[in-house]
Amino acid sequence: MNYHRVYHNQLATEFDSGVFCPSKEEFDQQMAFLSKHTNLMTEEEIVRLAQSGKPPPKRSALVTFDDGYRDNYLFAVPVLRKYSVPAIFFIPIESIEKSRLGWWDIIAYFIKHTEKEVLPFKGDELFLRTETEKQNAIGILQDYMKLVRSEESQDLLAELSFLCGVDFPSKEIQREELMNWDQIMEIGNTEFLSIGSHTVSHRVLSTVSGEDELQELTDSRLFLQQKLGREIKSVAYPVGSYRTFSDRTKSNAHRAGYSIGFSFNTGVNYGSIADPFNIKRIGPVADLSIFKSMLIVPRLFVSELT
Ligand SMILES: [Zn+2]
Repeated sequence: MNYHRVYHNQLATEFDSGVFCPSKEEFDQQMAFLSKHTNLMTEEEIVRLAQSGKPPPKRSALVTFDDGYRDNYLFAVPVLRKYSVPAIFFIPIESIEKSRLGWWDIIAYFIKHTEKEVLPFKGDELFLRTETEKQNAIGILQDYMKLVRSEESQDLLAELSFLCGVDFPSKEIQREELMNWDQIMEIGNTEFLSIGSHTVSHRVLSTVSGEDELQELTDSRLFLQQKLGREIKSVAYPVGSYRTFSDRTKSNAHRAGYSIGFSFNTGVNYGSIADPFNIKRIGPVADLSIFKSMLIVPRLFVSELT
């Protein structure tokens, strides 16, 4: 189960609302349920299982978080501690080092702040007259950005800033949304919590050269190992759906020294872990009864809350 952000009280954000799910209270209910009804696994146990090829106990689950948002530390970690739920937090290095939010958040920020009612986009027009139209436009722009070559993504954001008439959010504003290294180190020093890599720049790996891909995977691992003083064993591929990584990614992850690699929105792992470099994860839901129904399958391995 892979989560991204957990929100407190009313969801009000200048950034991407799509990555907020569930609320702090819903997350608490979900973790209470998981700790009572499933076999929760640590990173170490997953690594061992992936290497042995043995199936995990029935109804096993793992909680992960991507992207290093500050609400993970503020709202999710206390709940994980309360129920002793193990989890892995995947950190993109540059986001933290440079206080830089991902393009999905910046796109949402521009669209939410613009006064324009229509936006020319790739020979088409995106209407921004209502909240629904704005949400649709954010989705279209994010989908487009996912598979754009990484060199073009910064240009596209600059173009969008110009078209919307909205400046990039300041470093201070972006920093508020992200964890700092002290918080990440505190998580890494908690017995049942682990830190994994989410690459250096969070570029979609299928859009970069093989050489750059290996460097993203290697440099992020070495950086985190030095920063945290411990071995980094796992990586989650940015975005993580099937077109965003490849067999090349998996072998580069292996070469970079990782023991396991996680994809996202790729489903549930049945039986044993067939491929240690494509451990599948599913996205989060808010509603507890839907959450429970997702777990009522035999040998559920990884359940994610993103
Ligand atoms: Zn991510």
